[in-house]
Amino acid sequence: MQILTTVNELRAWSRAQRCGVNGEGIALVPTLGALHAGHASLIRAAAEARPGRVAVSIFVNPTQFGPEEDYARYPRTFKADCALAEREGATIIFAPSVEEMYPVGSSTFVEVEGLSERLDGQSRPGHFRGVATVVAKLMIAAEADLAFFGQKDAAQVAVLRRMVSDLRLGTTIVVCPIVREADGLALSSRNAYLTPVERKQALVLNRAIRRVEALVADGERSSSSLIDAARGVFTEAPDVRVDYIELVDWQTLWPVLTAAPGTLFAVAAWVGTTRLIDNTRLR
Ligand code: AMP
Repeated sequence: MQILTTVNELRAWSRAQRCGVNGEGIALVPTLGALHAGHASLIRAAAEARPGRVAVSIFVNPTQFGPEEDYARYPRTFKADCALAEREGATIIFAPSVEEMYPVGSSTFVEVEGLSERLDGQSRPGHFRGVATVVAKLMIAAEADLAFFGQKDAAQVAVLRRMVSDLRLGTTIVVCPIVREADGLALSSRNAYLTPVERKQALVLNRAIRRVEALVADGERSSSSLIDAARGVFTEAPDVRVDYIELVDWQTLWPVLTAAPGTLFAVAAWVGTTRLIDNTRLR
């Protein structure tokens, strides 16, 4: 497995991979690194779709972190990441420097208006601007045919779908299911920050989701009742601070009054100093 560090190398590699009558290209899996089984599932899906033509990017993107956020201490585990990526079917790793992605004097950003201010965008101003900018740069540099993302970041998926469609980038977005620990906690690189006590408290996110799923299975459709029920679950973990609990349309991220099949139920909460997110698409 090769490690590429410049956009020119990535582009040249991608162009050399094009084949078939439809000019099938490469699959891209954008990540911040600190890879876990959730990332592994994306890489496996990419390798199944484009065997031998999978680029995994590992880049802790500074523009998607707020000034008070964890950019400096974000876990960086490059060697282990390369081993995991290779094992799961990555063909190359793209690991650029910050200067490679943001040349000195950079002043071009991608802003997906509206969507970027909802859910996580509301509590993390500028976050989705940073995400959209770096993913657009990666898709363009890699001339990616497919790009794989996790349902875990449901709002990110909505923002990026809009961006790809608006900019006519020509990359197809593939969304993979949330990978969880055996006890239900959604895998996240930030779980590494949790103390053993917080790790237990963090399960409240998944409990709230399961409660809402159970109520919907029993016929409850009222958004306010479902959100109240989820808030009730959070009261069992008084040390966990809710950021948002929302029932929204999965594409527009606008709140809905009534749950319908496919509606997105999403939560974000602070467990100690760690902000965690989780969600489900209702049946
Ligand atoms: P990150 O490195 O946190 O930016 O995540 C890179 C990609 O992995 C994103 O598309 C995430 O949605 C996805 N991802 C993160 N955690 C999980 C998970 N538990 N299950 C599935 N995908 C995930």
